[in-house]
Amino acid sequence: MPIEQPRAGSSLPPLPNSTSRLAANAQAPDSSASTITAIDVDAAEPSGLDDFVIRASEGRDQPTAAISPDLALCARCLRELFDPADPRYHYPYINCTDCGPRYSIVLRLPYDRAATTMAAWPMDALCACEYHDPASRRFHAQPVACGECGPGYWLAMLDEVHQSGVEERLGPIPHAARLLQAGAILAIKGLGGYHLACDARNPDAVAALRNRKFRKEKPFALMARTIELARTLVELSPAAEAVLASPAAPIVLGPGRVTLPHVAPGTDELGVMLPYTPLHHLLFAAGAPELLVMTSANRSSEPIAYEDADARERLAGLADGLLVGERPIARRVEARLIAAEP
Ligand SMILES: [Zn+2]
Ligand SMILES: [Zn+2]
Repeated sequence: MPIEQPRAGSSLPPLPNSTSRLAANAQAPDSSASTITAIDVDAAEPSGLDDFVIRASEGRDQPTAAISPDLALCARCLRELFDPADPRYHYPYINCTDCGPRYSIVLRLPYDRAATTMAAWPMDALCACEYHDPASRRFHAQPVACGECGPGYWLAMLDEVHQSGVEERLGPIPHAARLLQAGAILAIKGLGGYHLACDARNPDAVAALRNRKFRKEKPFALMARTIELARTLVELSPAAEAVLASPAAPIVLGPGRVTLPHVAPGTDELGVMLPYTPLHHLLFAAGAPELLVMTSANRSSEPIAYEDADARERLAGLADGLLVGERPIARRVEARLIAAEP
C-alpha cells in the first residue's frame, strides 16, 4: 500500500517515521487472527493522497498475496450469535474480519466478494453498511452476510428434503441436534467439507459409523463442546490448550484420559477439537450431545466430500441425513492434526 505523510494543514494525524513502528502499530493487540509475514519498503514520490481508502482491486498484476486460512469463530461474533437483540442472532454464517472462511470460498484472486462463493448473495443494507464502514470489524469482510441476505442451512433426510424457510432458519439445527441425541449419523457441512458426526458416547452409533465408513482401525476425531470437557478427555499442556483454542482450530492429539468404545481402537491417544463454526456452536446450544465424533465425510481412502450433489451421492448409506449449508465450498480443506506437546 502506498503511504505518505499528511500534507501541512491536514486534519489527519502524522504517521510514525519508521516503518518498523508502523508495522508494530498495524499488529493490533486484539487481532490474533492476523500476522505480518513480510514487509518490503520502496521509496516513491508523494502523489498527494489525502484520505484512507481501500480501492477496488484492478487485477492487473499476478497476485502475490497468500490466501488466508479459514478461521474459527471469534469471541465477538460468538457473543452476537447468542444475543437475541443482535441482527445475526442464531445466524449460522456469522463472520467478521477476525473470523470465518477465506481459503475455502476463494474462486480466484484478487480476494474480493465477487471472486468468492458468496457472490450469489448481494448484501442488504445492514451488511453493506458494515462492509463499507472503516470503524466496523466487518469492513471489507468478504463473506459478510446476515439472515436477511445470506445463505442458510437445511436438513436433507434420506428421501425427503426439509428446506428451511426464512422464518424457520433455526429449524433444521434443533432437528439435527435431536437426531444426533437419538443416535443418528449426520453429514454436516463445515468450512472445508462435510463431516460425519454422531454421539461419541453412544457405542452403537460409533460402531455403526465405523462399519458404514469401512474404517476398521483408524481413530475418529472428537469435537468437545468446551475446553473443560476436552481436558477430561485428553492430557493437555498449557501450550496444547492454546493451540486447541487458537483460530486455526486444529485437532489436537494427546494421551487419552478416557476410553470411548469404538472411537480409537488400538491406541491410547485421542484427537480432540473445539467447535469452530457458528453452526457447531448452534448445534451444541440446541442440545446436540456435548461430545461428538467428527470425522471427514468419506469412505476410507476417499477424499473428503465438499460439493453438495457429490456428498448426497457418496454419503447415501453412510449418513442418516445431511445438514446442508447453501454457501458453496470452493475447495476442500482437510482438518489439521497437531500432536500435543508432552
Ligand atoms: Zn468474528
Ligand atoms: Zn445482510
